[in-house]
Amino acid sequence: MPDPLYQRYQSADRAYQAHAESCGCCTRDIPECAGGKRLRETFERLQDAYLARLKQRTR
Ligand SMILES: [Zn+2]
Repeated sequence: MPDPLYQRYQSADRAYQAHAESCGCCTRDIPECAGGKRLRETFERLQDAYLARLKQRTR
């Protein structure tokens, strides 16, 4: 069954990685420009939400 939160988290990751590759300033882990920072923040927020939910499930 598809997990919408996981899919959003993965697509935010892909969006940031694609940006980092074409940007020239941002690296895979560290955003250096405003656009990269915004994408990275979105990714981190979704990652936190996803990981937090995983923890709840295993409890
Ligand atoms: Zn950038």
